[in-house]
Amino acid sequence: MNKNGQQQLRDLPSVSVILDHMQSEVALWGHDAVTSATRAHLEELRAAIQSGESMTSDLSIIQQTIRERLTIASQPALKPVFNLTGIVLHSNLGRANLADAAIDAMCRVAGGANNLEFDLDKGQRGDRDSHIESLICELTGAEAATVVNNNAAAVLLTLNTLALGKKVPVSRGELVEIGGSFRVPDIMERSGCSLDEVGTTNRTHLKDYANAIDTDTALLMRVHTSNYRIEGFTNTVPESELATLAQANRIPFVVDMGCGNLIDLKSLGLPHEATVQQTLADGADLVLFSGDKLLGGPQAGIIAGRADLIARIKQNPLKRALRLDKVTLAALEATLQLYRNPDELVSRLPTLRLLTRAEDSVRDQVNKLAPKVSSLLGDQYRVDTASVSSQIGSGALPIEVLPSAALSITAANGEDEPLRELAAHLRRLPKPVIGRLHNGVLLLDLRCLEAIHEDAFIEQLSELTQ
Ligand SMILES: *Cc1c(COP(=O)(O)O)cnc(C)c1O
Repeated sequence: MNKNGQQQLRDLPSVSVILDHMQSEVALWGHDAVTSATRAHLEELRAAIQSGESMTSDLSIIQQTIRERLTIASQPALKPVFNLTGIVLHSNLGRANLADAAIDAMCRVAGGANNLEFDLDKGQRGDRDSHIESLICELTGAEAATVVNNNAAAVLLTLNTLALGKKVPVSRGELVEIGGSFRVPDIMERSGCSLDEVGTTNRTHLKDYANAIDTDTALLMRVHTSNYRIEGFTNTVPESELATLAQANRIPFVVDMGCGNLIDLKSLGLPHEATVQQTLADGADLVLFSGDKLLGGPQAGIIAGRADLIARIKQNPLKRALRLDKVTLAALEATLQLYRNPDELVSRLPTLRLLTRAEDSVRDQVNKLAPKVSSLLGDQYRVDTASVSSQIGSGALPIEVLPSAALSITAANGEDEPLRELAAHLRRLPKPVIGRLHNGVLLLDLRCLEAIHEDAFIEQLSELTQ
């Protein structure tokens, strides 16, 4: 190190001098955090000077860098993103966007005491499920209901309660894996029952179930094959026939529906998906479904059906480990309330609002934004418009696609590298933009960009070129 370097080291302000000048930061982030950020930055400056670089000793510049460090460190790790993947219920991007009513309900109970487990009429301890049980029954026609952490928990709890140590016949065509960690055979094993495989991958008949049933059989289960479909030479047994068979053998018939749809999707121009009501009417003793798939609510699992079975499920000690917290219960109740007014449902529930968005409306938005995005991205990129297919997501109706429109971005030089770089930059924006890289094109499907977020989306793109 030369003389100049030694002088630079001596000129660096001390930790205490810097702290004296950063009292508002100390008040905001705390003494320890500011001290360690200061030490870390001084350490970097010293190391750079010792390796021959010329560094500033200007107090205000040093303060500014420390401030930036602290700001970055205090950013929440879990944050909102723009989901422009075209997958409406994206399991990696938080699934259903909650309705305003659900968000308000969460805020109402989050900050203070509430009657979560308190019966206001009787003035004594109450049941946390009571707040939404009657609502679920009203909407589905079920006798009783209970709610847990998610649908995987609903399956686990139901099997553990009703089939512990016993056999459960399931069609080989329904032994599905959903989202990597939920595999029907695995969850059955963990719930303490044994899987009794019946039929074949493509064809299962009523007699396959009938032959499998013996005194060790706890129940019959149908698993919705949510995320894949077997086509061609196939046979599945209608639920009404499975219900009759189960009843004849005095065992329950349980349907893991996955999605948990409560409305006639066809009337909204969407692909048909069985409703919870119909499945119960067809004779299911219990139906299990997710809160954050087609239902459009928070992460939850709903179990609805026969009162005697629900009572047993509620008494299982595992219920305590899998129960919902007050904030989720509030959101779920508010979401279900929206279903009482079908006329306003689509406009109030983001999941349905996004799924039913007309292709033309997305295309108009793409046409409007393409020139703006193009000028913000600069000469290095070309922005075109493309017809694409959105998906419902979360394994719901995987084969069915929704016609949509996207900004289609390519690198002016035709290479992949600038495109990957752009995708990475987009992910680093304050509100990261997540698109889909496909065959040398970055597609931003605007189906999920609602009008109120449009300006924010465009505004932060200008940060890309800074
Ligand atoms: C999605 C799904 C599950 C798991 O539901 P989560 O709410 O994600 O836990 C279970 N079964 C079926 C058939 C599903 O589609």
